[in-house]
Amino acid sequence: MARNMVQFQKGLSEPEFDRLYGTEEQCRAIVVRLRWPDGFACPGCGGTRHSLVMTRDLFQCSDCRRQTSPIAGTIFASTKLPLRLWFRAMYHLTQSKQGISSIELGRRLGVTQTTAWKIKHKLKQVMLERDAKTRLTGRVEIDDAYIGGERSGGKRGRGASGKTPFVAAVQTTDEGKPVRIKLRRLAQFCSHAVAAFAKRSLDPACEVVSDGLRCFAAIADAGCTHRVMKTGSGPKAVQTPAFKWVNTALGNIKSALTGTYRAISSKHVPRYLAEFEYRFNRRFDLKAMIPRLATASVKTQPMPYRLLKLAEEGA
Ligand SMILES: [Zn+2]
Repeated sequence: MARNMVQFQKGLSEPEFDRLYGTEEQCRAIVVRLRWPDGFACPGCGGTRHSLVMTRDLFQCSDCRRQTSPIAGTIFASTKLPLRLWFRAMYHLTQSKQGISSIELGRRLGVTQTTAWKIKHKLKQVMLERDAKTRLTGRVEIDDAYIGGERSGGKRGRGASGKTPFVAAVQTTDEGKPVRIKLRRLAQFCSHAVAAFAKRSLDPACEVVSDGLRCFAAIADAGCTHRVMKTGSGPKAVQTPAFKWVNTALGNIKSALTGTYRAISSKHVPRYLAEFEYRFNRRFDLKAMIPRLATASVKTQPMPYRLLKLAEEGA
């Protein structure tokens, strides 16, 4: 039933989006409010008295005269784009289940594909950092998966060369309904990488179910209970009820990635996974995704590639 609720819930309609986030003034006011919830405070001296330098869109401290841009030190500082285009990008990125290609995003925003690609990856970076520190808890289904080649996200070809390995973990309720998901690129499927993943991403109280892939035994290094379910291989494995949700999630990732993106280079994989994970974990409240992503964007420093490391476990 949970799945149907998600499928049929209303997202934010385009007219509603326009009403809330349609103008540069609205978006700017939101960013200013997120940046300084209790009113402007000078980052230099802490002073609150200020004037606005309207022509350059700056706050000027009345005490030390320092000028501060509301977007300095946020993800929005990295481009010269109007904020309303950033918000529109958030809309397209969060409200569609399948994600959106940079070509399509560029078309909708009226910017080049390169610009659209940059915006998208900055926002994905925010999503990645947002979810990096939370851990799954309770019952968890876990599986190995691979992106790359012609069969993105699929399970086939375990360990095949040229594919980027990642681990998919789904926290479920005791009744087996999905709660949260974690998707992390691994350097490779070895005990070392699995143990590092488990320590970072799983609460020690987790009860983890996996198939017989030997390196999954390293989950116990994180203090979790680990149960192996022999599944055999092929279609039979997919039907095993213990792995229902991790298999469903992997199927969805596969169709999202192959439907939207043609090729994904290994170094970008963590951010594609982060995008999927972010949407999945917030699927019950589509409308809140834009303010939540905006809040996170204001708090995220624009530092390309640094965050990729957060998502990769092992050597
Ligand atoms: Zn000051």
